[in-house]
Amino acid sequence: MSEIQTAVCTKCNVDKALDAFYPSNTKKGHTSQCKECVRTQQAEYHAKPEVKARMRAQQAWYHAEYYARPEVKARMEAQQAEWYAKNKARIRVQQAQYNARPEVKERRKAYKAEWYAKNKARIRAQRAVKRQAKQGN
Ligand SMILES: [Zn+2]
Repeated sequence: MSEIQTAVCTKCNVDKALDAFYPSNTKKGHTSQCKECVRTQQAEYHAKPEVKARMRAQQAWYHAEYYARPEVKARMEAQQAEWYAKNKARIRVQQAQYNARPEVKERRKAYKAEWYAKNKARIRAQRAVKRQAKQGN
């Protein structure tokens, strides 16, 4: 056995044993920077705000893409259905309690009235159309 092979890191200029470098597809067979320097650089890189933001955006995109897959959607729906079936009684009680709250009742009433006021013309028009259709028969 000859002496241990070493290489000089291009970043810290330290002569290190080859196992201090990551293997790579280059002629030398290892990265030009030692593991320590690569790690330091990566940590610095990932600490940058714009990189952090990009990573978060990528994750969000991946997350959305993942949950949009038909097989994932189907699995989630099945899980939800199962969860609902198991907790149905409890959910009903909770919903009833929630709906019975005076402020919830008030809010719902106000919302209905507002919705009706906004859609009054459309509802009347629809009714008129239905009536005419009936009379047409
Ligand atoms: Zn180094």
